[in-house]
Amino acid sequence: MKRTLVIVGASYAGVQLAASARELGFDGDIVLLGDEPDAPYQRPPLSKGFLTGSFAEERLPLRSQAFFEEEHIQWRPSTRATRIDRERKAVELRDGTRIAYDHLALATGARVRKLDCPGASHDAVHYLRDLRDARRLAGFARTARRAVVIGGGYIGLEAAASLRQRGLDVTVVETEPRLLARVASPWMSAFMQRAHTAHGVSFVFGRKVVKLHDTYDVVSVELDDGTRLLCDFVVVGIGVIPNTELAAECGLKVAGGIVVDAYARTSDPAIVAAGDCVSFVPHWAPAGSPACRIESVQNANDMARTAAACVVGRAEPYRALPWFWSDQYDLKLQMAGVNAGFTDFAVRGSVEDNRFSLFYFRGEALIAVDSINRPQDHMLARKLLANGAPISPAQAGDPQFDLKTLASDEQRVAQGAA
Ligand code: ADP
Repeated sequence: MKRTLVIVGASYAGVQLAASARELGFDGDIVLLGDEPDAPYQRPPLSKGFLTGSFAEERLPLRSQAFFEEEHIQWRPSTRATRIDRERKAVELRDGTRIAYDHLALATGARVRKLDCPGASHDAVHYLRDLRDARRLAGFARTARRAVVIGGGYIGLEAAASLRQRGLDVTVVETEPRLLARVASPWMSAFMQRAHTAHGVSFVFGRKVVKLHDTYDVVSVELDDGTRLLCDFVVVGIGVIPNTELAAECGLKVAGGIVVDAYARTSDPAIVAAGDCVSFVPHWAPAGSPACRIESVQNANDMARTAAACVVGRAEPYRALPWFWSDQYDLKLQMAGVNAGFTDFAVRGSVEDNRFSLFYFRGEALIAVDSINRPQDHMLARKLLANGAPISPAQAGDPQFDLKTLASDEQRVAQGAA
């Protein structure tokens, strides 16, 4: 009998899960439920080229309509799953209909954390998560002159760069004493701050927004020291909240995210989960590390592959190397590995020319590499990290040291050992 795979969530993880299940030979029905009206689309450009105007909306779709037809993936837009009946193995939709499943995959992603202060529901307050947000913001940015960005994480900084490129005055308000405090090293934070300052962005650190005042056409952003920043609109990028309610309400284990094991399996053997909504103990974290969530395109795609393998009965543990990227002005930042807990680092290349990489070590081990406009370093770093190549900080910082040979040597060692 034909089996049915129902996937809740039609962004990176959901779409990849459907594609991988087919690739791995799943020949039953695949139903992909998405609550957005738009065909699944790329999110990273929303805060970058889509906002500056250099990336047209037609280029956003993740896959063509033909792909869904050819692969017999029933993508259903504007369709929200409201309940999971694990006993009867069915998903209930908002309109009351039910879809029976043999396998269920949760790829519900995350939603923006909303600003919580008086005035926060003002029309001129924008978020940047989905296409509707981005269209609205791009429209506003066309005629505005001054913006305040709340949050100095990647979303906030990418929005700040895009708005500056459009010629707006931009001030970023960040509660922490530095930018990108959650994810970047202090060194990289300082570099990014210098870059934005050189492009004319102003910063306020260590302050919270307490109130937004609407005075005629101008918004006044009041901070906790009484300062008021005047602007035409506000962009809020203060992080996301995982969409775990469906999972929690049907009794799946949820702790900061939908809990999965190394095979992307939830606490119910018929249900897998992948992407931003998932909490897991990463294979790269030191022993005893707590579970965490990873918000990235790479994680969504690779974990979806792991989940799909599980669905077709060929479970393999999630082993992919984490990597991330961000584009701001002419800076292409690429990160391989996770630098949490690094004890030493080396700089390779030229910081003055905005072309360098930072190699992070924990003890003797290379754990992460951040590259600015050095795509080759990034590609080699991914190989070095995946293979655990032996490299010292002195070697990493030595421009004469041949990374390419080391990466390919290690490749051979890894292949030989396999
Ligand atoms: P995002 O994906 O939205 O960029 P991050 O968590 O990476 O999310 O970054 C959000 C940033 O916003 C963090 O640096 C955090 O310190 C900052 N932040 C959180 N709440 C506030 C707030 N109320 N005002 C200003 N900054 C905030």
